[in-house]
Amino acid sequence: VTTSLIHPETRERLRLLAAGMRILHNAGLDSGVAGHLSCRVEGEGAYWINSWGVLWDEFGPDDFVKMSFDLEKVGGWRDLPSLGSGFHAAIYRRRPDVNVICHTHAPYLIALAAKGQVLGMYDQRSPMFLGRMGVFEQRTQSRADGAVFFSVEEAEGMAEALGDDNFSLLLTHHGAVTVGADLPTTVVRHLFLEECARTQVWATVLGAPEMPADVAAAYHRANEESGRRVPSTWEALLRRLHRTDPELFADDLT
Ligand SMILES: [Zn+2]
Repeated sequence: VTTSLIHPETRERLRLLAAGMRILHNAGLDSGVAGHLSCRVEGEGAYWINSWGVLWDEFGPDDFVKMSFDLEKVGGWRDLPSLGSGFHAAIYRRRPDVNVICHTHAPYLIALAAKGQVLGMYDQRSPMFLGRMGVFEQRTQSRADGAVFFSVEEAEGMAEALGDDNFSLLLTHHGAVTVGADLPTTVVRHLFLEECARTQVWATVLGAPEMPADVAAAYHRANEESGRRVPSTWEALLRRLHRTDPELFADDLT
């Protein structure tokens, strides 16, 4: 397989997308070959998304499929996009500020989603998500030729539930979707969200209360204003990946 037809700049972007998937794998957020990570192709009405059938720690720059917003494959070497990923188009259409979308079946996020409520304020990072989360009640349809994970209507409903400002959406009895303006923001937000959900699950087992509203508001402001936590975390995780997964960067042109 030659990769000469994919522009080197695009290929480097896809290498970072693969890095994002490996980082999510290292944190235990993947579930076999399921889940998605995609990025918008600026000005083309298209996005790159992980192909079906590849483990998250196997991903490299050649393992993505380019899809149009009409869900036609328009580029990439692999055959199929990850299953149930058509809703990405609905979100990219509705949210011009979103350039990256992540969807996983992270275990504690599934537990939280099953409860049907947004994240509670149990630790200092949870206020990042204050007023920025939605819940989507999923209604998978049964059909003669198989289940429909996300119909067109359901994909529109998800984009609607995400709204104009939310950056995470819980899908009941399924998992979560996180969006962002760039890859580091989206991946690290999703990692933090799972960690906060894990804390919440154990805190509620202990019968612990949420933090007072004024404390949550102060943390929320601090997070919005400093903005250092997310990029610093991404850079550190990427450094670790250079050490643990050098083969991913072996033919890096940059
Ligand atoms: Zn899913």
